[in-house]
Amino acid sequence: MHTSSLVNQLKPSETLAAAAKARELRGKGIDVLDFTLGEPDFITPEHIRSAAVAAMEAGHTHYTAATGIQELKQAVCDAFQRDHGVTWKPSEVTISNGAKHALHNVLVAICEPGDEVIIPTPYWVSYSALVELVGAKPVLVETTEAEGFCLSPEKLRAACTSRTRMLMLNSPSNPTGVVYPVKTLEALAQVVVEKDIVVLSDEIYDKLIYSGHTFRSFASFGDEVRKRTVIVNGVSKAYAMTGWRIGWTLAPENVSAAINRLQSQQTSNPCSVSQYAALAALTGPQQCVADMCVKFAERRDYVIRRLSAMPGLTMAEPGGAFYAFFNVSSHFGRPLMGGPAVDNATDFCTALLERAYVALVSGDAFGAPGYVRMSFATSMENLRRGMDAIEKFMA
Ligand code: PMP
Ligand code: GLU
Repeated sequence: MHTSSLVNQLKPSETLAAAAKARELRGKGIDVLDFTLGEPDFITPEHIRSAAVAAMEAGHTHYTAATGIQELKQAVCDAFQRDHGVTWKPSEVTISNGAKHALHNVLVAICEPGDEVIIPTPYWVSYSALVELVGAKPVLVETTEAEGFCLSPEKLRAACTSRTRMLMLNSPSNPTGVVYPVKTLEALAQVVVEKDIVVLSDEIYDKLIYSGHTFRSFASFGDEVRKRTVIVNGVSKAYAMTGWRIGWTLAPENVSAAINRLQSQQTSNPCSVSQYAALAALTGPQQCVADMCVKFAERRDYVIRRLSAMPGLTMAEPGGAFYAFFNVSSHFGRPLMGGPAVDNATDFCTALLERAYVALVSGDAFGAPGYVRMSFATSMENLRRGMDAIEKFMA
């Protein structure tokens, strides 16, 4: 049967593919240490699970409003006010099936075919694919480890053309973990206003910030910036709720209305029970978020300490999220663990998986050759074993 050229050009998600490969080997009885997926290993906190059970028992098993229940929209606005001091109205919120769906909605609602969307590299794997899916053009702007993997206002200005519609920003970043300094965000915001472009700010890791780093929402730099900003967020990371599939957008009313029309024809509401669970997450006690963050911080410190002690590896220390993104290119051209030498990050990951049974994701997936990504959202025991295995592999 025919498949469309649009979808034929679409690459499968490389993070999900790497996770599937690790799962397949595990299925064959091989003890793979899997650091591919960016998802908390914790089970969703108890009070959130209970709220979902209560929602089912109360009969919240029907369609809801296509764009989400009013209480959850209000809770999203209240949480934003509480955490970032910016007011949004429920009519500016759309609840979707996870942040990935929310990102796609925004691109469909705003971009025309041929529009340019600036994406600083390294970038999360799905950004360029989703931009291409709407017929727009990803404009990849490189940032380096020496620059702390932050887009500079100069680079942004230089990348803008008359076709530029949007800048996609992600702080804390997947895959680098970098948290943009407030001063850099301020300077970027000035360029955004001057060039009159939209910022799609993916703030899904806003709650996972390590000491010495500060998160600022892109919507918090005044009205001129806010009216050009669309925020994407969700419960997947902060509340360990990846499987529930709840994300959202905060956008100016006309954009929200466009997203709402789209979603009403496309998916209808996200899962009703999940929406009530997300409502409990946002309105219930927030201690669970802080507790998980403490655990992630311990793991982060451990991973940084071990990686820093390995010869030839360099990285920009993650200030947020749960990824270590490090450069392995000094090991290219060397025989590794008795096998032939590798000369790129993708082959490095394949060799590491096949010879040392450790699964990472290649930086090639994120537009950053020479790098690999390790998710540290897993137990200390796994991290210890993984670090030992990586060390042995490279020695
Ligand atoms: N944005 C970023 C930066 C991510 O890392 C992810 C990965 N989960 C998403 C969006 C998508 O989140 P969700 O699982 O809620 O779709
Ligand atoms: N965002 C997570 C990651 O980067 C989950 C996988 C995905 O959605 O692609 O690993």
